[in-house]
Amino acid sequence: MNTTPSPLPATTSVVIVGAGPAGLTAAITLADAGVDFLLLDRLSEGANTSRAAVVHARTLEVLEQLGIADELVATGDIVAHFTVHDGGRTLATIGFDGLPTRYPYTLMTPQDTTEAVLLKRLRKAGGEVRRPYQVTRVVEENDGVTVDYTDETGAPGSIRADYVIGTDGMHSIVREQAGIGFTGATYPESFVLADVRMDWPIGRDEVALHLSPEGVMVVAPLPDEEQPNRFRVVATLETAPEHSTAEDIQKLLDARGPGGTVRVREVLWSSRFRVHHRVADHYRSGRILLAGDAAHVHSPAGGQGMNTGIQDAAALGPLLARVLAGEPDTLLDDYETTRRPVALGVVSFTDRMTKMATLHARPARTVRNLVLSTVSRIPAFRHRLAYQLSELANR
Ligand SMILES: Cc1cc2nc3c(=O)[nH]c(=O)nc-3n(C[C@H](O)[C@H](O)[C@H](O)COP(=O)(O)OP(=O)(O)OC[C@H]3O[C@@H](n4cnc5c(N)ncnc54)[C@H](O)[C@@H]3O)c2cc1C
Repeated sequence: MNTTPSPLPATTSVVIVGAGPAGLTAAITLADAGVDFLLLDRLSEGANTSRAAVVHARTLEVLEQLGIADELVATGDIVAHFTVHDGGRTLATIGFDGLPTRYPYTLMTPQDTTEAVLLKRLRKAGGEVRRPYQVTRVVEENDGVTVDYTDETGAPGSIRADYVIGTDGMHSIVREQAGIGFTGATYPESFVLADVRMDWPIGRDEVALHLSPEGVMVVAPLPDEEQPNRFRVVATLETAPEHSTAEDIQKLLDARGPGGTVRVREVLWSSRFRVHHRVADHYRSGRILLAGDAAHVHSPAGGQGMNTGIQDAAALGPLLARVLAGEPDTLLDDYETTRRPVALGVVSFTDRMTKMATLHARPARTVRNLVLSTVSRIPAFRHRLAYQLSELANR
């Protein structure tokens, strides 16, 4: 992703702070509506790492409205099932194939690929990311918002905007400056993420959740034309190493996986991070709005962080365009009313999943396994879970 060093204008209709997936999506919707905006990011180029690798059906429906679903689907691997295992035993298989959508599956593709597709679409709409500009202060005053920033030389500047969208991630300065609380807590464990090449006995057409008293582990296939047998491993650990080695991941898979022929050949990328579960107390404060990780963060176990953020932004952009075209600004209250409950739902769903997955006592695990394998034979249960995981319930 390149930089655009030309000076910034002093006024615009909307400043979007942060050019991750949520900021790019918001910018596309504003560009399509002909709204004048500035999309600023403090980094001199976009991140080029894997991060969120799951794209759910609802997100693809939203991207279809932007005309880029097929392009994104072509970059990834289609996964038809979500399965739950305890050791070598499969407790549940949830199929996405019966879902009422053009995208009855989960798409696995790295986040930098998703961002590249969004950026290309933004440019097609005539928009651009302005880098590197670090926003330092956001103040609403006199029917507008003043956004202060520094450029790459440290020189300060200021923009007047009608509205500001904070898509500046978990440590959002926009949220902080607007005085919006970020209520929740931090999980005691850390998460390990690793993209590996490995021999794995479970098929490449499923995302597998492995239940273990030692912690949750999810294994999913990644597109592997260039690097055969590429998989994403996500697991909780009490203290995770900063960079996992092949031996570290092998140990995890041996302890929590299905047994059989599991052999990690190479770690292609890995990361460790603490996970918070927090939701902004409000998504709107006057002329300042939040979307994406700035508004909510949760466990990556369901792969829902980036997805929820893209969906927030795709809902917010058109509402803001209508307000700027003269409709009442109370329309923006609808944004919080519809999108905040979605984030609260994701936090509670991933929390329940984590607790259920990490039961320690043998009797409780036996009961859980029995209940899971029994209810997962009920089609209505399987359908409901697939509907929830694919985020189609957010329509
Ligand atoms: C290592 C890692 C692994 C992850 N794995 C998963 C996963 O498996 N599944 C999943 O669903 N999610 C995962 N996530 C989370 C996912 O990446 C985020 O949910 C997603 O990126 C959020 O998008 P966003 O656009 O809201 O914010 P971000 O992608 O965080 O983008 C925020 C942008 O704002 C910019 N910015 C911040 N402050 C300022 C400022 N003051 N001025 C200007 N610009 C600023 C930043 O440079 C950044 O580009 C992972 C995250 C990480 C870090």
